[in-house]
Amino acid sequence: MDKIQELITENPLESLRNLATSYPGQVAFSTSFGLEDQVITDLISKEKLPIRIFTLDTGRLFGETYKLWQSTIEKYSIEIEAFAPKAEDIQNYIASVGPNGFYDSIENRKECCRIRKLVPLQRALSGVKIWITGIRSEQSPERSHLTQLEKDEANRLWKFHPLLAWDLKMVEDYIKTNQVPYNILHDQGYPSIGCAPCTRAVQAGEDARAGRWWWEADSAKECGLHWKDGKLIPNKKEISDDKSIIHSANKPLPSMTRLDQLESESIYILREVAAQFNRPVLLFSGGKDSITLVHLAKKAFEPGKIPFTLVHIDTGHNFPEALEFRDELVKQFDVKLEIGSVQESIDAGRAVEEKGKFPSRNGIQTVSLLETITRLKADACIGGARRDEEKARAKERIFSVRDVFGGWDPRLQRPELWNLYNGKIHNGENVRVFPISNWTELDVWEYIERENIKLPNLYFTHTRDVLRVDGHLFPVSEFVNLEPSDKVFSAKVRFRTVGDMTCTAAVESEANSLSEIIQEIRDSRTTERGSRLDDKRSEAAMEERKRGGYF
Ligand code: SF4
Repeated sequence: MDKIQELITENPLESLRNLATSYPGQVAFSTSFGLEDQVITDLISKEKLPIRIFTLDTGRLFGETYKLWQSTIEKYSIEIEAFAPKAEDIQNYIASVGPNGFYDSIENRKECCRIRKLVPLQRALSGVKIWITGIRSEQSPERSHLTQLEKDEANRLWKFHPLLAWDLKMVEDYIKTNQVPYNILHDQGYPSIGCAPCTRAVQAGEDARAGRWWWEADSAKECGLHWKDGKLIPNKKEISDDKSIIHSANKPLPSMTRLDQLESESIYILREVAAQFNRPVLLFSGGKDSITLVHLAKKAFEPGKIPFTLVHIDTGHNFPEALEFRDELVKQFDVKLEIGSVQESIDAGRAVEEKGKFPSRNGIQTVSLLETITRLKADACIGGARRDEEKARAKERIFSVRDVFGGWDPRLQRPELWNLYNGKIHNGENVRVFPISNWTELDVWEYIERENIKLPNLYFTHTRDVLRVDGHLFPVSEFVNLEPSDKVFSAKVRFRTVGDMTCTAAVESEANSLSEIIQEIRDSRTTERGSRLDDKRSEAAMEERKRGGYF
């Protein structure tokens, strides 16, 4: 101890240099590509210190982490050794509790960490005398009592935490001054980054590790790599004896509600999009589903900004209330808005206006949509479609690939086993992504009520001039070509779905609050798309439009 202790000074670089030269080939640094780890990698690499750098590739890391890994080895021209779990361990785990079984109990979670991290770590540390880590005291209460140099008796090695006394500002200043590459998730509210399914952004005031295994309300927030008694691999008895874990393995965790599960899945999908694509956009119609998507995107990345540009295809036949709401929402969330204009496509002769009493622009907005996707070079377009809306929508995958012409072939869709979404595409292709595909109309309304999401007043009862056609009440507007025999009258209505004024029918309703709307939907025997004229043109109207590049 004394000899090693003498090599350690207040200067992390000096300490690393002393250790590396005194114990050649026996010093290894484990990186998980956090801010602190990047500082240490920078110190080791610039000085060309003979210290091995390794990482544990759990197979469940964020796409952003893999990108950073790549850019780090390229910037410093170094090797970072990867230690992966054994395929057999993963197969057995999945067969036993499923791919996401770690959400079900502490024991399952620790077993997943054991096979994906602890077992590979043992291999990585074989022959190592001094293990360098990026731990800092202020990261969590559990880390605040550590000393810079610790003896790990069980594994016969020393652990050295060169940045233990650094505060976050010192780390950030170093990163900035030395232009060290870092994980962009840090800018989106992730101070501590581990595996994607087990890490979320933190709120202002939460401690840095609050976003790790957040569902384990009061547990120690450690995966066992730095287990407090110095042993690398706790056995199952030790796990269940760990008094810092409030929910013991024998007690069920507080169960997630249906809305919690739907929200969690959608947020996971949105984060996958941010990780897998370069220029993702969110298609915004001003309807309740796209408003819900924006709310989910906010939650997925808060306290960071929503990392998607909003795209609105302006048909020129919109409800003015929807446009007004759109502009306010853009200001409120401070997001970028791009507009594709159907009128411009018509004026340029690329789209042809329909004739008739209800000249819908719904079909021809595909032209503007595809033009806008091309102009923005968007590789992923997030939409608010749901499977319960319509049978063509029910056929779509969560990640639905469009060819270079924007076309969709329902027979050529990718399997989506468990929750693995494949975003690999060729040049010019793009992916439509449907994060709320598994929600029902009722789920959306209950979620809007639970989260207190603001909506345009079109969704609530109001008095409006309407025209009855085939039992449906169509709003009277400058875009509808009235005939002398048409009988216009005022009625108390609201809209269940909001599209163009020429193709969206209202329903007679007195519902003025979310709870009244929810009750109305529970009692309803028709689907919301039943009030869309554009869907009624043929049995396969939606599928035909989708094959041609529609939303
Ligand atoms: S952090 Fe989550 S996904 Fe990663 S090894 Fe642990 S339980 Fe498994």
